[in-house]
Amino acid sequence: MAYDSNNIFARILRGEIPCDKVYEDSHVLAFRDIRPHAKVHVLLIPKGPYVSLEDFSARASEAEIVAFHRAIPKITAELGVAVTGYRAIANSGADSHQEVPHYHLHLLGGQRLGPLLS
Ligand code: IMP
Repeated sequence: MAYDSNNIFARILRGEIPCDKVYEDSHVLAFRDIRPHAKVHVLLIPKGPYVSLEDFSARASEAEIVAFHRAIPKITAELGVAVTGYRAIANSGADSHQEVPHYHLHLLGGQRLGPLLS
């Protein structure tokens, strides 16, 4: 699937749409989900044009992949969920109901979550 540079997260990255930012560095941006599914619900996105986890894993540079994952403990510390725990979910592709075609990791916490598969 080709990257659509007008997807909503691309527009957030360009500053065309506001977001509730929690973390940013040269490779990633994290902001609160507009329709939260938990007390803490943040989306972590790479700044590069990757459609999905599949695409990011295949095409991103090692520096981008490392920066993406190194951002996680900074964000979870900032959100206060590093010790209490959280869930990280990436929907990738149609069967997963991925809505926005720019790779993003959902970070959910701030409360006791139900089992993922029940
Ligand atoms: P997906 O189903 O994994 O693609 O999740 C996309 C997520 O993006 C959903 O949880 C939406 O609530 C969220 N979302 C869509 N538009 C915005 C926005 O403008 N700001 C913050 N979150 C958004």
